[in-house]
Amino acid sequence: MTDTAAPTGPTAVSASTPVADAHRDLRDRLVAAGRLVPTGVDGIYGRDEMFESVVAGFDRLVSAAGADADPTRVEYPPMIPKVNFDRIGYLRNFPELVGPIFSFVGDAAAHRGVLDRLDAGDDYSDLLTQSELALTPACCYSVYPSVGPRIAKGGRTFETCGYCFRHEPSVDPMRLQAFRQREHIRVATPDEVLAWRDRWLERAPELLSSLGLDVVSDVANDPFFGRAGRLMKMSQREQQLKIEFLVDVYGPEHRTACSSINYHQDHFGHLFDITTADGETAHSSCIGFGFERATVAMFQRHGMDTAGWPSNVRDRLGLG
Ligand code: ATP
Ligand code: ZN
Repeated sequence: MTDTAAPTGPTAVSASTPVADAHRDLRDRLVAAGRLVPTGVDGIYGRDEMFESVVAGFDRLVSAAGADADPTRVEYPPMIPKVNFDRIGYLRNFPELVGPIFSFVGDAAAHRGVLDRLDAGDDYSDLLTQSELALTPACCYSVYPSVGPRIAKGGRTFETCGYCFRHEPSVDPMRLQAFRQREHIRVATPDEVLAWRDRWLERAPELLSSLGLDVVSDVANDPFFGRAGRLMKMSQREQQLKIEFLVDVYGPEHRTACSSINYHQDHFGHLFDITTADGETAHSSCIGFGFERATVAMFQRHGMDTAGWPSNVRDRLGLG
């Protein structure tokens, strides 16, 4: 097997094959091979050791690609304080994706009420109370609140990794509800941030294509909700604030982002009172790599067993 063959397996989409069938086909092949373990809910899977060995290799490469900037490495749990979640505006911009966390806080009588509903198979959500937490939708959100108030000359660079939740159930194994990202983050002056972004605009596609993936870079927008969201989408595109690195898994007209880089301008600097050494509001940018997306793309590209993968790809991933 070579790493230059076109992805023409059963998942490639032709005009007569709706893309949803291709999603289901790839999911079924990953499940049949044992790479993904279904849970009964679309977008939530167990992964086997072989899948995780690819994730680990990919993670090492993503981390190494930013090591020259000597980032501050920091890890957070997969949830953020609701106060930050609300301040970032996630509910305003992406209401259908949110994952607020609810729990039970009542007394024994209220608990009996919950159990009655449980036993009857009825909905009990209105008997729960919203907690002070929300599931993290993007792991960089944990970082910005603690960066300020003033950063030293030269700015800051961070690296973080973690589970993200987005309520977007799908049969597409590239679109999960819980997935992992490694993000590199720059908080600094506009010039410093843009110079950092320029380097990643080269490195990210290089990294993905070195794994045999067919990558193109493109200007994109986030799925902002509603009428106001349409304006935000347009302005994000016009200003080229989001650039995605898209791979061909279901055919060239249905590419999926395995990584994307966002330039937030002074958005997070304002929200979390971060100023640079010259007293201006800090700008920021982040690049996120999706572990499961890249890994599923590699299994689609190279086959369901890593033993048959091209040796250069196996070497890059440290698969021995
Ligand atoms: P999409 O446009 O495909 O929904 P996105 O552009 O919103 O993705 P980002 O918010 O930029 O994604 O997240 C960065 C990376 O996280 C993506 O490039 C992708 O690799 C990964 N990612 C995002 N959403 C998902 C998901 N639902 N399942 C798996 N990986 C995801
Ligand atoms: Zn980010």
